Amino acid sequence: MTTTTLAQATTVAQRRSAELEDLIDRDAAAFRILTGDRPTGQLHLGHYFGTLRNRVRLQDLGAEVFVLIADYQVLTDRDTAEHLDEYVTGLVLDYLAIGLDPARTVIFAHSAVPALNQLLLPFLSLVSVPELNRNPTVKDEIAHSRQASVSGLMLTYPVHQAADILFCRANLVPVGQDQLPHLEITRVIARRFSERYGPVFPVPDALLSAAPLLLGTDGTKMSKSRGNTIPLSATADETARLIRGAQTDSERHISYDPADRPAVSSLVLLAALALDRDPREVAAGVGGGGAAALKQLVATAVNDLLAPVRARRAEYERDLGYVRQVLRDGNQRASEIAAATLAEVRTAMGMTY
Ligand code: ATP
Ligand code: MG
Repeated sequence: MTTTTLAQATTVAQRRSAELEDLIDRDAAAFRILTGDRPTGQLHLGHYFGTLRNRVRLQDLGAEVFVLIADYQVLTDRDTAEHLDEYVTGLVLDYLAIGLDPARTVIFAHSAVPALNQLLLPFLSLVSVPELNRNPTVKDEIAHSRQASVSGLMLTYPVHQAADILFCRANLVPVGQDQLPHLEITRVIARRFSERYGPVFPVPDALLSAAPLLLGTDGTKMSKSRGNTIPLSATADETARLIRGAQTDSERHISYDPADRPAVSSLVLLAALALDRDPREVAAGVGGGGAAALKQLVATAVNDLLAPVRARRAEYERDLGYVRQVLRDGNQRASEIAAATLAEVRTAMGMTY
């Protein structure tokens, strides 16, 4: 997929997401959701509007939700995984603070689920090296990687992600735009597995939000690893400072024009998402007020939205024993499900001796 075809894939996925929203409205319980994050830093507004908010909404509508902490995948673009304990704890704190409920949602780390990882082996046999080499997100991540050469893990992690998604037979994956090529690999693997061995896995759909690619303060994709984020756990003052420092452009009048004014439009979108308003209306409201007025509006809107999240996060921070227990319970539940799926896979493949 080139940049153009990624844009085309996004248009197709947006159309499909609208159809899926209708199905969710009718019967959310028909969906099993899997999605997750790498413990490479603090979750940020790109995560919140790109996928976290959808997770909570789907959970509250009655879908079964699995949230994965992709700790092995930290090693795709760096030699050693640093601050793992701190980042993993931070992710679980953020999940709880935004409203994921461990009584209904399974939160787990894939390194703690051996049977899930074993699915990687048959799945690797179902994709070709050229297919892996073509993945535009992997290419982009290689360009931003901290390593001198490309590791086997970097090239194959989309296949590992197929194991993450299919171990629990998820049929819906709320993600940002960068994940679309990976989800396509998962869909190919599910189909090919069925053709060769029988129907064990569903073919899952991506669910895009209204913010499939939120930009960071430097005008490129907001990413934990790129130092351009507005973290969910930042204080109100830090948040306002980061937003004040965000890149804009030289045109004074504020408009919403993502193609020609990506940085300004991303700020407009942030305010619109936080206020639940249309971005064009938000831009028209700021108009000649310029970038300073826009940034002020964004900071107030984001801080108002996040105030209750921060308060809940601070409460959970006082009970880290509970936070760890949530993860242990999730690991246990995911392991039971993965063991059952692996047994079925081995039966389908004739590996029952
Ligand atoms: P890293 O830079 O370490 O890769 P990241 O910020 O890209 O971190 P991930 O853990 O790779 O975060 O992504 C977790 C989920 O959040 C994925 O579904 C991804 O598509 C989504 N996501 C990440 N960044 C954004 C963004 N800027 N806009 C929308 N969705 C995003
Ligand atoms: Mg990423």
